[in-house]
Amino acid sequence: MLLIENAEVHSPAPLGRRSLLLGGGKVLWMGAASPELPAAIRADVATLELAGRRLIPGLIDGHVHVCGGGGEAGFRTRVPPQPLSHHTSAGVTTVIGLLGTDDVARGARELLATVYALREEGLNAWALAGGYHLPTATLTGSLRGDLVFLEPYLGVGELAISDHRSSQPTLDELLRVASDAHVAGLMTGRAGIVHLHLGDGERGLDLVRRALDSSELPARVFNPTHVNRRRALFDEAVALARRGCVVDVTAFPVDEGEDAYDAAEAVERFLGSGAPPGSITVSSDAGGCLPCFDADGRVCRMEVGSSGALLATLRALLERGVPLADALPPFTTNPARLLRLAAKGTIAPGADADLVALDAGGAAHSVIVSGEIHVADGRAVRRGMFE
Ligand SMILES: [Zn+2]
Repeated sequence: MLLIENAEVHSPAPLGRRSLLLGGGKVLWMGAASPELPAAIRADVATLELAGRRLIPGLIDGHVHVCGGGGEAGFRTRVPPQPLSHHTSAGVTTVIGLLGTDDVARGARELLATVYALREEGLNAWALAGGYHLPTATLTGSLRGDLVFLEPYLGVGELAISDHRSSQPTLDELLRVASDAHVAGLMTGRAGIVHLHLGDGERGLDLVRRALDSSELPARVFNPTHVNRRRALFDEAVALARRGCVVDVTAFPVDEGEDAYDAAEAVERFLGSGAPPGSITVSSDAGGCLPCFDADGRVCRMEVGSSGALLATLRALLERGVPLADALPPFTTNPARLLRLAAKGTIAPGADADLVALDAGGAAHSVIVSGEIHVADGRAVRRGMFE
């Protein structure tokens, strides 16, 4: 068991100075003073003194290329997998792995094997079935079978629309995939979402609007991401959030004068828009390549997404004057609700013990995943098998 003392808890609501007792992967107890423990138990309890540091829920990163993304400018541009401490050092305690453009050289077996490996190393990890393209390759013979019988799958994604790299899915194709995700979600209690990669295409979110207009599927099934990549697309996303979709912004670098919003500006604009504040999440695209294309569709520049972009976005939100209690939900409670991870995204007795203590500068000082210390004093004390 682990006793955390003198934590300034933001659950995300500010709860003040608290001590927490962790055990069995859970927060067992939380209170203002240290708990009275019998001597025999006390001897087995390690203590982590936080000296008033802010303690927040572990970040949930809903879009991570756990086995590496890329491959858009030749095979040498396939990004290698990111090791365990790449995520934990950045305060990320839960990752949702997925495939992107390259869902041919990489596939479901590699994705699931990587998720299982991260779990063995102590991280919370799930996955989305498929990749950019339709039809999705499957393991059981059908997408619905995969979603129902393969426990790590929370839904489908990242399925590309309005992008020159997409398989140009039609409305009927999107509806069929969304119905598989929704029905599998009902059967299993898992999220049952379709996480939609949005490209730069002028069609924007038109396909999603038509899907909502022409089917009985709940809006929550459709979860568009990268919606901050164009300003007009972001306005479309805010409108969809009012209809019940949860929209995801990506913490990618934005250049001066670019027709995009960086993630912090997008979250601040969303919170000021009057759309439901629980309907926005932020993800990192870690391990994915962030290519810039010229007019002929050739890659002219390439960067790799990093888990650290999440805490950088949180810091930027605080610098913009957004209170921590309002800035935290897009990284914690909101993705937990969308992904139906009921014990995550919050700090409370009975919740999963996924916790991050921030240092004064907003970096991860201590990171605890399922009650186990992964980062101490800003250094990874647990590493992946081959780190
Ligand atoms: Zn994408």
